[in-house]
Order: sequence, then structure tokens, then C-alpha cells
Amino acid sequence: MAKEKQIFEIPEYLSVRDLAELIGASPIDVMKLLISNGIMASINQQIDYDTAAIVVEEMGYEARPVTPVVKEVEQAELPKWRHFYDNQSPESLKPRPPVVTILGHVDHGKTSLLDVIRQSHVQENEAGGITQHIGAYQVEHNGRKITFLDTPGHEAFTAMRARGAQGADIAVLVVAADDGVMPTTKEALAHVQAAHVPVVVALNKIDRPNANPERVKRQLADIGLVPDEWGGNVLVVPVSAKEKIGLEDLLEAILLVADETEIVADPTAPAAGTVLEGRLDRSRGPVATLLVQNGTLKQGDIVVAGTSYGRIRAMFDEYGEPVKQAEPSKPVTVTGLSEAPEPGDTFTVVAKEKEARAIVAERKQKAEAAARRGPQTLSLDEIFAQFQAGDVKELNLIVKVDVAGSLEPIVNSLEDLNVSDIGVRILHAEVGNITESDIMLAIASGAIVLGFNVRVDPAAQALAESNGIDIRTYDVIYKMIEDVELALKGMLEPVYEDVVIGTAEVRAVFKVPRSGKVAGCYIREGEARRNAQARVKRKGQVIYENGTVSSLRRFDEDVREVRAGFECGVGLSGFDAFQEGDVIEFTVRQRVN
Ligand code: GDP
Repeated sequence: MAKEKQIFEIPEYLSVRDLAELIGASPIDVMKLLISNGIMASINQQIDYDTAAIVVEEMGYEARPVTPVVKEVEQAELPKWRHFYDNQSPESLKPRPPVVTILGHVDHGKTSLLDVIRQSHVQENEAGGITQHIGAYQVEHNGRKITFLDTPGHEAFTAMRARGAQGADIAVLVVAADDGVMPTTKEALAHVQAAHVPVVVALNKIDRPNANPERVKRQLADIGLVPDEWGGNVLVVPVSAKEKIGLEDLLEAILLVADETEIVADPTAPAAGTVLEGRLDRSRGPVATLLVQNGTLKQGDIVVAGTSYGRIRAMFDEYGEPVKQAEPSKPVTVTGLSEAPEPGDTFTVVAKEKEARAIVAERKQKAEAAARRGPQTLSLDEIFAQFQAGDVKELNLIVKVDVAGSLEPIVNSLEDLNVSDIGVRILHAEVGNITESDIMLAIASGAIVLGFNVRVDPAAQALAESNGIDIRTYDVIYKMIEDVELALKGMLEPVYEDVVIGTAEVRAVFKVPRSGKVAGCYIREGEARRNAQARVKRKGQVIYENGTVSSLRRFDEDVREVRAGFECGVGLSGFDAFQEGDVIEFTVRQRVN
């Protein structure tokens, strides 16, 4: 008895990466198969069911359309909240309060600053004025609002980024004026810079007798944060959380930076944003703090957050007061979800509960499939594949070395490697072992971790393995440089050429309902392929090019290819003015270097 083919359910549209994931193949193999069928698709490109089915079948499986599911709301899948409003008309975008995260070395006063800002800026009209820790709070300064995320530290920030969310617009880097720039200060800076988030420095503890602001400013300049009074572009604000000094200046500085950055949203759109916290409350069931990043969230809205969904029963602000709606940048706790979502999950409002259920079911299915397959690797090879697909123009690196003396030569040699227009971007270079924090940064930024004469912390190793992050350690500098150079060379933009795979002679022209005219052809040489590129020649002159074979039929059947010596019907996208005697040339793009 013949072995039954494995059947895969394919949605109407999916990306090349998702297709590869679904069928357990490497994205490169899928791209190769597509190329051999005349389809140039990048790893993130959406392909339709028919195209995906070709791949599935060529891999020896059977394709079937998915039992129809409502299409996922676009925003939910997008990595950065900027994209929440990328597709919106500029007129509908309005300024919104900046969302601020606080980072810095341990004990430099992050928590104290958050607390003192919270206490001294509670709005007077709020009941009792006691804020609750819900993951974020808003304060007012000169009539303008600022949202603070109240989980300090870059770990939370980067964990969120690794899940595809970008929570903050501005980072406050806290540096104690007595202690100065410390290793974690640099690390935190690397994390926010990798995320392209602007930085304001809070020079804390200036009340301390041994505070030395000038020394710290020099240290800041050394790590690239040149204070504005020295002609740089970083606002450095002296503060004391203990003595409540400089808090207004800090808020002012945040608003100044906000004014230079485009911090906007469309308050009229269906709400979307990020989950800050999720927990199970004994009496209220699942409770989540949501940061609205676009649109206005309203009581009664149907929300999908990660793999939970539900109709919002009640909403509360940071004072525990019930609210009916939440505008962009406002954090609210909500009840009514089916389960507690994870911090960093994105949420969106959908029109119908049925739609929400379908999206969640699809996500759960995807998550299970991904868990079965294990981690997707982010190795040099994988980056190379993304590169070939034109998705990556930069190789992000994190470099850890044993002694300060080897840091500079390694960083310089790596930075010198830039080949053509492909760059090396060093997100973080530091003396020390490879830690969990390095791996988090790598996950969030799609980076490779390079180590020179250093060890990998066991926790970092485990995190890297479970997330498929490539850690490469070396004991010879030139070997490290050589590897990166090879990756870069591989990453060079490939050159493609159109190669003719077949020619056909038009012998008749038919009108087909709904799709215009189709050419009845005789294949003279090679073959015709569906989805191949095509050009049309008349009396030796090209009269149409860069078309695609949109339909290919033999008798009444859609076929994938027709070989020389056979007749078939050919439809092209974008051209149907065929005449008898025209010649159609079918081409595919092939890589020539
Ligand atoms: P975090 O680890 O960065 O969150 O730092 P904390 O906010 O927990 O502060 C660490 C220590 O520094 C605590 O003992 C605080 O009381 C103290 N501290 C924080 N800010 C100041 C300040 O402005 N002046 C002084 N003298 N001490 C401060």
C-alpha cells in the first residue's frame, strides 16, 4: 500500500518564513524551490496559497487550504509600535505623551527616582492620590503628560523587545554622581541604542558630599554621551531622588527630547499596544495592564492579547479608578480576558469575538508548531539567508573580550570590515564573560555574540540554546575577524540575470470571462511555467516585458508547466493584446554570482 502523503493546511497568504516553519524546512530551501519556479521571494515576503502549494507539493507533501480563519489584524504581528500607525494618513496622527523607561547601574537610584516622581506628581484631583503599581503611571508637567514604565532596568526593556514589542520612546539613564559610569551603565546604554531610543541622563545623588558631576560628565562623554553643555546632544540633568532636587528639570528634559522625536498616534483608530503585566487575580480573574500605543481603548472592546482574548469588562487607571476609555500612551488595567497575557505581548482590538477566537486559535497552533520544531537559529548562516533575501543590510554584533587591551583592536578591525554597503554594527563591546543580558540583547536585536578568550555563563548558554542564538568564541583574533569577513562576503548582494527557459508561439487569441485575453500557444522550445516572468515579441521587437504568467492551462486544467511540443493557454498579468504570430519568451531570474 502506498504511503500516505503528509498534509499541510496552508492559509491564503503567508510569508516564506512561515511556510518554511510550517513544513519544517529551511527557509533557504523554500526560497531555492521558489526561484526554480521563477519566483523571487524574500524570506518575509507574503506568497499566496497557489505558490505555497507548489513548494509543498514539490517537497513531496500535500497542500490543503486552511479551514477559513479570519485574517489576523495587521498591527498585531508588527514588531515595533511605530508600525502601529505606519499605514495611517499623517493628518490623523496626533502628538501623544512620551513613554519613558528608566535604566542604569544597580543602586544608582532608579527605583527611588520612579517613586519620588510618582509621589510628587500625583494629580491632585485623583482620589486619595495613591498610585498603585500596575506597571506604568502617568504624571503631568506643565500641563503635559509623561508615561513612566515602572519596572526599571534594561532587562525588562529588552525582554519586551525580544517579544516584538517596543515599549518606550525615551530612556532615562540614571548615573550616580558619586559612583559614576559603571559596567551596567554601559550595558544599559547598549540596549537602548540598539533599540534606537533617545537617552536623557539623570545624574542622581548630587546631594552626596562626594558627588563629582564633572568627572561623571567626562565619563559619559567617553562612552559617547556628550553633554549638551559641552556641545553634545545629550541632556544631562543633575537630580537627587532623596532631596527631591531637579525633578522638574528632568521632566522638562524628557519633554524637550519628546518634542524632537515624532511621538504620535491616531486616537481614532481601533486600539493596539503592548501588555505590560498579566496576572491571575483570585476574585477578578485574569487582569492585565495594557499600554495603549495607538487608537483609543474602550470598555466593551474585544481585545486579542497574545493568546488571550475577551471583551473588556472593566478598566482602571493607576489610581485604581474606573475609566471608560484610554487614549494613546495611557496604561490601564483591564479585566475580562480569557487568560493572563505575557508582558511584551502585543494587543489589538478586533470587531467580533469570533474573529478574536480565530486569531488566538491560529496563534496557539503556530506556537505549538514552533515548540515542536525547537528554536529557530539565528546563526551567521541564517543571517546570510536573510541577507540574500535583501532583508538585512547590517550585521549586528555583540563582542565580549578578556582584557581591555584587546577590546580596541578587535572593535577596530571588525568595524573596518564593512564590505560595500553592508555594515558591521557593534551593539555592545565590553570586557567580561558572555552573560544572559548579552543574549537578551542578541535576541532583541538579531545579533551574533562573539567572544574572545571569555567563557559563556551557563545561564547565557541555556538562553542562547533555547532561542537559537549563535555564540562564537575564539582564542585567535584573526580567526574571529576572518569568520565575520566571510559572512559579510557571503552577504554581498547577489547578481541576478533573466534566463530564457522557453519560447512559445501565439497561434490563437481567446477572450476569457473576467480575465481578459489569453493566448493559445504552441511551446516551441524549453517550457512555459506558471509564475515565470514573460516578455512578448512581435516581429523580433520586444513589445511587452516584465510580465508574469498568471495562468497556464492545458485543456480545462490549470497546470504548473508545459513542455516543448505541446499546446496551452497562456495569460499574462498586465498584458493581453496578443496577436497571432507573437512570440512569448518565458524567463526566470537566476543568481549569477
Ligand atoms: P536602584 O537599584 O537603581 O533602583 O537604586 P535604588 O533606588 O534602590 O537606590 C539605591 C540606594 O541609593 C538606596 O539606598 C537609596 O536610598 C539611595 N539613593 C537613591 N537616590 C538617592 C539620592 O538622590 N541621594 C542619596 N543620597 N541616596 C539616594
